[in-house]
Amino acid sequence: MSSSSNASREAAERQAKESPVSESALETARRQLQHAAESLDIDPNIVERLKHPKRVQEVAVPIKRDDGSVDVFNGYRAQHDSVRGPYKGGLRYHPDVTRDECVGLSMWMTWKCAVMDLPFGGAKGGVAVNPKELSETEKERLTRRFTEELREIIGPNQDIPAPDMGTDPQTMAWMMDAYSMQEGETTPGVVTGKPPVIGGSEGREEAPGRSVALITRLACEYYDRDLDETTVAVQGYGSVGANAARLLDEWGATIVAVSDVNGALYDPDGIDTNSVPSHDEEPEAVTRDADTVISNDELLTLDVDVLIPAALGNVITQDNAADIEADLVVEGANGPTTATADSILETRDIAVIPDILANAGGVTVSYFEWLQDINRRAWSLERVYDELETEMERAWRAVQTEFERHDVTWRDAAYIVALSRIAAAHETRGLWP
Ligand code: NAD
Repeated sequence: MSSSSNASREAAERQAKESPVSESALETARRQLQHAAESLDIDPNIVERLKHPKRVQEVAVPIKRDDGSVDVFNGYRAQHDSVRGPYKGGLRYHPDVTRDECVGLSMWMTWKCAVMDLPFGGAKGGVAVNPKELSETEKERLTRRFTEELREIIGPNQDIPAPDMGTDPQTMAWMMDAYSMQEGETTPGVVTGKPPVIGGSEGREEAPGRSVALITRLACEYYDRDLDETTVAVQGYGSVGANAARLLDEWGATIVAVSDVNGALYDPDGIDTNSVPSHDEEPEAVTRDADTVISNDELLTLDVDVLIPAALGNVITQDNAADIEADLVVEGANGPTTATADSILETRDIAVIPDILANAGGVTVSYFEWLQDINRRAWSLERVYDELETEMERAWRAVQTEFERHDVTWRDAAYIVALSRIAAAHETRGLWP
């Protein structure tokens, strides 16, 4: 259990007061790129190229509402870099979707694919719409029209979307169908995250949570921590959080707190994770039968060995980073730690295993799905799990090597692995014409 010295806590608090409050996904992605580039001997022209997306497709998506009226929504697809292979990344339906957000998130996808050594580049897209305000048929019409607007720039060898916030396997099924109908042939490899009955992979849904658990186990091994003697708090009990918590529980760790949007269930003796309904099984029921409920803020600062933020971004901030008591933070959510919080945690010697490594099981099993679609041959769940474990271990070892070689944070080490691979590919292919 770590408790920082008063001096380092005061330094952390000082740092927090002096730092800017927040930055956009694009600013974060550019800053992280610049930061990693400083640790490497990379041609600055390549870094300059990587600050800009290759293309952003901005489209109007008109749909007929159930009452006969027509509404028009803005849709985007940002394609960042394809030097290592086709673009890959999610599509979200959310009112806050913007061009810049898509660009920033597409850059993250480039690093995530490269750290996992997948033959993909980064993309991200979405429609600025509240999916809760659409009926099922309106959602289907929106998805089919959006697919048509993107049809020229997506495809199994060009750009392969996947589900993200507000979209799900059914959305991907409609996309695959709309694309296939227009192309005149069934093309399952155009999207991943589909239902298995039309070419989706077994194990895709639980993959990000599984990779978070695998990386947590590897990190505990690295720090000589026996899982049987490790306490864990998990924020968010959805696809990522619940799958990670249940696996770690199965492997011997003691899960002392799990939460949803309403608060956290806390039991210092350990929670039976299978008896707590995940978001998918029953939304927002984590604290329903709880004896002790604490707030999500309290969960983050519990005196545990491992903290897994797996709900949403920007939860570890300059306001609470000085109070985090865990020795190890494993990022299940995308971007849960702000830049300022990151440096405070570094000052306090708290290891943070970054999202681009920890939750990359999702895109890795998406890659397996794409392979299965191209080969028209489904893998067993067992094979998916085995290959995922192999890939996560391989990526962990690559990051560990840079962590030790450069004496940097785990986040910087992961960016160094990613950027070196991308830069080497750019250098080898050259700039044409
Ligand atoms: P989900 O919708 O399945 O579950 C989210 C959970 O977080 C729910 O339990 C919800 O109640 C809880 N939550 C929501 N708001 C909260 C709040 N303010 N405080 C505490 N808890 C809150 O979502 P998910 O798919 O598990 O995604 C979680 C995070 O992981 C997101 O950041 C997502 O971008 C990231 N992620 C997801 C995947 C994936 O494929 N599912 C892959 C990589 C990263």
